[in-house]
Amino acid sequence: MRLTGVHLLLTYQCTFECDHCFVWGSPRQTGTMTLQTVRRILREAESLGTVEWVYFEGGEPLLFHPVLVQAVDEAVETGFRVGLVSNAYWATSPEDAELWLGPLAGKVADLTLSSDQYHSDERLSQQARDARAAAEKLTMPVGICSIAGPEAGARGVTGQLPHGEIAVMFRGRAAETLAPRAPRRPWTELRECPHEELAEPDRVHVDPFGYVHLCQGISLGNVLEESLREICNRYDPATHPITGPLLNGGPAELARRYDREPGPGDTFADACHLCDSTRRGLRARFPEVLTPDQMYGVPEGQ
Ligand code: SF4
Repeated sequence: MRLTGVHLLLTYQCTFECDHCFVWGSPRQTGTMTLQTVRRILREAESLGTVEWVYFEGGEPLLFHPVLVQAVDEAVETGFRVGLVSNAYWATSPEDAELWLGPLAGKVADLTLSSDQYHSDERLSQQARDARAAAEKLTMPVGICSIAGPEAGARGVTGQLPHGEIAVMFRGRAAETLAPRAPRRPWTELRECPHEELAEPDRVHVDPFGYVHLCQGISLGNVLEESLREICNRYDPATHPITGPLLNGGPAELARRYDREPGPGDTFADACHLCDSTRRGLRARFPEVLTPDQMYGVPEGQ
C-alpha cells in the first residue's frame, strides 16, 4: 500500500445531524482527537515517506479550533500539504469568518465547505458564502461540496445532477435516512465497490480512537497500538475478511460469503447501501474490523 493521503477525523461531533452524513456526525457523538494523537499520526505518516496530503475532517473539525490551528501548524511544519473540510457553522459574518480562518491562512491549501439543502434551507448557505468570501480575502484556496438529493440516485453521475452537485453515497446515516427515497436496484446487481480503491488504496482515514479506516467503518488496525507502516504492510486485500469478498464480487459477494443474502427480490439504493447493511450484521463476527460504534450510529445513551 502506497499512501499519499491521510485524513484525520478530528472529531465525530458536529453541529448538525445531516441525513446524508456517512460518519454519523452529531452533537450527541463522542470521540475527539487529542493533540498528542494528532502528533503521533503525523509522525507515522511522515515515516512512510509517501504521504503528501493531510486532511482534517470530522464531524466538524472547527469545533476544536485551537487544537485544529496547532495541528495544521505542525502538519505544515512536517512538510505536508493540508486540506480542511468544514460546514462553515462558524461564519456568522464575513468579518468574523476571517477571525476563524486567519490563523490558518497560508497553511491550508484546500478548504472544502459543505453546503447543500441537508445543511441549511438553501443550497449555498449564508455561512458558506461568508466563509468563502473570507477565504478568498485571505487567498486560501476554497471550494464548495454540495450533495444532491436522494431522488437523483447513486447512479446520477455528475452530468445528470444539478450543476455543482455530487451524488449521495448511501452509507452511514444516509443508508438509514435517505435510501428509502432513492431509486432501487436488485441486490444481485451490486457486484462492485464504486468508491474506494480497495486493492491499492492511496489514502486512509484515521479516527479519534486511532482506527485506520479503508472505508468508513472498515478498520485495518489501530495506530495507537501498532505503527501505520505495520498496518499498511500487513494489509492483504485478497485475504482481508471484508475487502476480499468486496473485490471478488462487490457487496453482493460479501453478503453471499457470510450467508447474509437478502431475499431474492430485495432491492437497495446502491452498492454502499447493501455493503453497509451487510457489514452491520457482521459486526459481532468481525468486531476488530467493523468498528468503532461511532461509524455505525450514535451510541446509545449519548
Ligand atoms: S461498497 Fe462498501 S467499501 Fe465500497 S465505498 Fe461503498 S461502503 Fe465503502
